[in-house]
Amino acid sequence: MTTSHYIAGRWVEGQGSDCISVSEPALGLPFAELMAASVAQVDQAVAAAREALPTWKQVSASTRAAFLRGFAEQLGQRREALITLQMRNNGKPRHEAEIDLDDAIATFAYYADLAEQLPSKNRDVPLAAPGFTARTRLEPVGVVGLIVPWNFPLVTSAWKLAPALAAGCTVVLKPSEVTPLIEQTYGQIADTLGLPAGVLNIVNGKAETGAALSSHNGLDKLSFTGSNNVGSQVMRSASAQCRPVTLELGGKSAIVVFDDCDPDQAVEWIVAGISWNAGQMCSATSRLLVQDGIADALLPRLQAALEKLRVGNPLTEEVDMGPLTSQAQWLKVASYFATAREEGLQCLAGGQALDREGWFVSPTLYADVPKNSRLWTEEIFGPVLCARRFSTEAQAIAEANDSRFGLVATVCSADLERAERVADALEVGHVWINSVQAVFVETSWGGTKGSGIGRELGPWGLSAYQSVKHVTRCLG
Ligand code: NAD
Repeated sequence: MTTSHYIAGRWVEGQGSDCISVSEPALGLPFAELMAASVAQVDQAVAAAREALPTWKQVSASTRAAFLRGFAEQLGQRREALITLQMRNNGKPRHEAEIDLDDAIATFAYYADLAEQLPSKNRDVPLAAPGFTARTRLEPVGVVGLIVPWNFPLVTSAWKLAPALAAGCTVVLKPSEVTPLIEQTYGQIADTLGLPAGVLNIVNGKAETGAALSSHNGLDKLSFTGSNNVGSQVMRSASAQCRPVTLELGGKSAIVVFDDCDPDQAVEWIVAGISWNAGQMCSATSRLLVQDGIADALLPRLQAALEKLRVGNPLTEEVDMGPLTSQAQWLKVASYFATAREEGLQCLAGGQALDREGWFVSPTLYADVPKNSRLWTEEIFGPVLCARRFSTEAQAIAEANDSRFGLVATVCSADLERAERVADALEVGHVWINSVQAVFVETSWGGTKGSGIGRELGPWGLSAYQSVKHVTRCLG
């Protein structure tokens, strides 16, 4: 592909030095190539966003809402192409690719509604002191850089783009070099809708392009989703300019299963929490804490369920789980299998790469994993589940909280009072009770501790792109 960057309302050729190779993970083969944007092109994209800002922030809330509804509608019109591209480039099973698309559509529709309500949020502030009036204005933060990873490309970009545009910000989006084609759709839709030039810019590239954007002094804010390692570099760049950041980082989340659960139902939740997207989810519930009284019934069922999962090429087979999305991720997961063997972990299922073309691994379960094992403490980002037993509720809470991450958790129990109590005690940003990975656009997304700073989705996702101004007037 030659014209793969969308800058100031035009598709342009990449002038950077990196060639990005786009692969089909089920075959382990490239199917497209594009040249990265140069640092100068990142400058042009930021300059275009800066130029577009004064007009875009003055546009009426209902006009912005209409554009956002247009994005939702146009995503729907490209349904089959977007589902196929996610299956091909991410290796997602069809039903997961469909869920991602529906999530992106719902996100644009939701922030269209919030954009429409914006004028009513500017209101008078009652003051106790006499002689003054005060009013609040919610203003866009300004020009924002959005840097995203490869695991949910349509969704993660929608969670940033929709609220940023709703708030009146102009944006420069940098998709992941692993999945750069999917987000091109957002530029194509901007073209179709006649979104004013410069409101949305897309630059593709690797670390160099990301660093050029995150350290750019023309930004007012940077919103980043990705690894902790890069997140801390992004934060360093932001701190040099005292600029706000939102960081959505990694996780090592717990799923806590109490004795009173139906073991078959619990197995369904556990399997979904580690096998969706082949476990390449920041929110994967990869630490299983199972109470003593149910462990012996649950673990053999879990082993059987993982071994029964149909792993294969989503484009040619009926599958429950596809390949890992990149060769780098496949090598990383394989290195954890080697570590598990060195540590002498008890492997109940999987534990190896599949002997076939493409970047496949088998769904994996290790039992009675020591607390200091690297597999218990580090984010693997693959279908690798580690289990430990517990006896008391207090012990379950302590073990679940004993992590440098704090993104999500799942609690499974028939005793709803207990489940709610445990949910309140968990140090994470989102807890599911008797359900798994259910994310609704009205609820918040984001973590505590090492899982990041700030929240996406819901009204909090919009606030992330707004600045509060007060106007105070003396009546005297
Ligand atoms: P990554 O950090 O390697 O890359 C993320 C993005 O940053 C990519 O676009 C990449 O090109 C860019 N980048 C790389 N180096 C950069 C630099 N020096 N400066 C600026 N940008 C740079 O992450 P990844 O491998 O793409 O994604 C996996 C990670 O993302 C996992 O840790 C996962 O937990 C996390 N994640 C978190 C959430 C969440 O909501 N908390 C959601 C999805 C993924």
